[in-house]
Amino acid sequence: MSAQDRPVVIVGGGIAGLTAGWTLARAGRAVVVLEAGPRPGGVITSTDGDGFVMEGGADSFLTVKPEGDALCHELGLEAEVVGTLPSAGAQILHRGRMEPLPAGWRMAAPTRLRPVMATTRLLPLRAKIAIALHWHRKAEPRDDETVGAFLRRRFGDTGGRAIASAIAGPLLGGVYGGDLEKLGAAQALGVGAKTGPAPKPGTPLFHSLRHGMSELIEGLAAGLERAQPGSVRTGSEVRTIEPASSAAAGYRVTIADGEALAARAVIVAVPAWRAAELLRGLDPGLAAELAAIPYVSSVNVNLAYRRAPAIPAGHGFVAGGGYRPLLACTFAHQKFPGRAPAGAALLRLFYSAEAAEWPDARLQQRAADDVRATLQVAQAPDRVHIRRCLRALPLYGPGHGARIAAVRAKLVRWPGLRLAGNAYQGVGVPDCIASGRAAADLEALP
Ligand SMILES: Cc1cc2nc3c(=O)[nH]c(=O)nc-3n(C[C@H](O)[C@H](O)[C@H](O)COP(=O)(O)OP(=O)(O)OC[C@H]3O[C@@H](n4cnc5c(N)ncnc54)[C@H](O)[C@@H]3O)c2cc1C
Repeated sequence: MSAQDRPVVIVGGGIAGLTAGWTLARAGRAVVVLEAGPRPGGVITSTDGDGFVMEGGADSFLTVKPEGDALCHELGLEAEVVGTLPSAGAQILHRGRMEPLPAGWRMAAPTRLRPVMATTRLLPLRAKIAIALHWHRKAEPRDDETVGAFLRRRFGDTGGRAIASAIAGPLLGGVYGGDLEKLGAAQALGVGAKTGPAPKPGTPLFHSLRHGMSELIEGLAAGLERAQPGSVRTGSEVRTIEPASSAAAGYRVTIADGEALAARAVIVAVPAWRAAELLRGLDPGLAAELAAIPYVSSVNVNLAYRRAPAIPAGHGFVAGGGYRPLLACTFAHQKFPGRAPAGAALLRLFYSAEAAEWPDARLQQRAADDVRATLQVAQAPDRVHIRRCLRALPLYGPGHGARIAAVRAKLVRWPGLRLAGNAYQGVGVPDCIASGRAAADLEALP
């Protein structure tokens, strides 16, 4: 078989791998997407039942990054795209009350002093004074420091600690998991976190799809199937990736049942810790860099109510530190249209890693206790859906930028070997789409 006849093999059928496959198939390249699980999508799953759309992973994508909308357009899904319903903005559950973010707050830090000093109840007076005293001390986040260290450097010890525990911790913990003493400042707040321009007037900050984010996965899988029937293979766990034995360039990819595929190029679109396992035999140094990217687990619990309980307006809240392991709660039926039947409600609670190890019964009880304590909802849900996301989200620590540069330098030795996914240059859905596109760059592939 000549190199030209071999397909590009994509390992992992999450949003990154499917996007890479779709991009190549659309351009007429032979591809095979090998997905270990019984369905493609990876972290993204939407469960539809009794008129409730229960998300197990991402529920939306940022519109200020263009990749999500562009992909929907390409797949002919524009009519399925839905925007967030109007809301007053993010709220933090703090000492039993929902508190709005101070006006002008951006990710971890304030951009305006007056709302911090005058209005917010999230920070004590001594922290406000410390922040004011440090206001003119400009500082940019560095790749080698944590978010916690950056906030203390920028706003002083007292101001930085107060911001971290009352606002930045809850906000970033919900997005990135993990704590601020482990999260790298440059990636979470700096260059790596830039989202581009503000959304166009009238465009919501987040989009999703009418029947949930899985519609995007189904659109990608259907597009691939149309372009190249049989190109997405589920239940196909890759065990090894080796250089092709012949003089011809390429790789040999072996799956769990022993079948070996000859590939002209391989795009590894699995979590970095899994990529490390697959590439250890090929390049131990590369594998060591990949294995050093930490991942966090989480679990989310959807509670569906046929008769909506009374809850506050808005899209939900992120929880202050005192509510751990609860991280956040989304009021899904108030965030996007069509998430619950008329008169019904859908609440989604997010928990940190420790709760991912609990049995279902304990989680369900904890979720019922939490909605009673935080929202005064005592009625039993009519449906419960639990999803554990184990080692699913990378935690970009200090030095992540340097590590990714080292990974790229090592990859140069392996023509046609690419990496894609949430481990490298952003964890959000648009970032993963961008990484899939970049990995599928036609000019550069052999
Ligand atoms: C709970 C949660 C909520 C989130 N919410 C949002 C959100 O609202 N908005 C947003 O933008 N982002 C969100 N994210 C982040 C975003 O959804 C993920 O980063 C993204 O979906 C990851 O996609 P991926 O393709 O990189 O990886 P994955 O989805 O992890 O896909 C990797 C795939 O590889 C497969 N695989 C693994 N090993 C092998 C093997 N050996 N052989 C074959 N296949 C293999 C896996 O089965 C999996 O399907 C959320 C993440 C989580 C965990």
